[in-house]
Amino acid sequence: PASPVSVLGLGMMGSALAAALLDAGHPVTVWNRSAAKTGPLVAQGATPAETVTDAVAASPLVIVCFTTNDNVGETLAAVDLTGKTLVNLTNGTPAQARALALRARKQGASYLDGGIMAVPQMIATPGAYVLYSGDEQAYETHRPTLAALGGTQWVGTDPGRAALHDIALLTGMYGMFIGVAQAFALVRTENITAAEFAEPLHAWVSAMLGGVVPGVAAAVDSGQHLTDVSSLGINQAAFSNFIETYDDQGVSPELFVPFQKLLDRSVAEGHAADGLSRLVDLLKK
Ligand code: NDP
Repeated sequence: PASPVSVLGLGMMGSALAAALLDAGHPVTVWNRSAAKTGPLVAQGATPAETVTDAVAASPLVIVCFTTNDNVGETLAAVDLTGKTLVNLTNGTPAQARALALRARKQGASYLDGGIMAVPQMIATPGAYVLYSGDEQAYETHRPTLAALGGTQWVGTDPGRAALHDIALLTGMYGMFIGVAQAFALVRTENITAAEFAEPLHAWVSAMLGGVVPGVAAAVDSGQHLTDVSSLGINQAAFSNFIETYDDQGVSPELFVPFQKLLDRSVAEGHAADGLSRLVDLLKK
């Protein structure tokens, strides 16, 4: 029979996680700070717990998904976690994950931290996966259960590693979003609809990504930044046109001024002949 799981936190994400575990045939105990949110899951077969302590006691595997890691620390502070595996899928920083791992171990639990690479609607679909780090033994033991949520991707025994991967992947996403938002804002100043511009923008960004990611990776790892294709000097000389265009068209340059400053610094520090990959090194504080 499938092993029991407790899910703490039934927001959008926690509810999706609990529903996926129920669908996979696990007995699921649920707890939420505001008890009303247990309703739909109880209708699907989950058992509601009165208190966090009861919820934790009900299963060897406890999945928690609150708004912040502070919520996790506060909610579990006085709970007996002896012999439990705590899987924390709350978004947070690597340092927060390490601190929670330490506390969980002191309270007798094995700790796994996770980064969910999906929106709630994607949970348990082929596109969804979760990054895990921390106690490897606990991961191996519970992996078949965790697989009900989506793909499982192990990233290491440092409990902070999943958060680092998660933040880095989402950083790439936000960087892309910043460019897409600025491009749409710009074309709309000339009554070009976003829909009209979507196809060429998608094609361009996709093509660039396909070359930039492996190209920058190779340059950064080898330390070979010299380029005969697109030097920082050329980019820096052209970039004032970008800022000027935003200003002329009435679009805020606020997201791109910091990039111009970094380009300026790269040239000032003597890297004009290098490619954009040099910026990765210059970002290190
Ligand atoms: P929701 O706002 O829908 O849910 C938040 C949950 O946290 C609720 O169950 C809420 O309880 C609980 N909570 C908040 N504060 C406390 C507290 N002090 N003590 C106990 N419980 C508390 O958010 P989501 O479910 O969307 O997100 C949850 C986590 O999942 C976040 O860390 C988010 O970053 C992450 N995540 C979300 C994704 C998404 O697309 N939604 C994608 C990937 C990760 P109550 O109902 O009582 O308020």
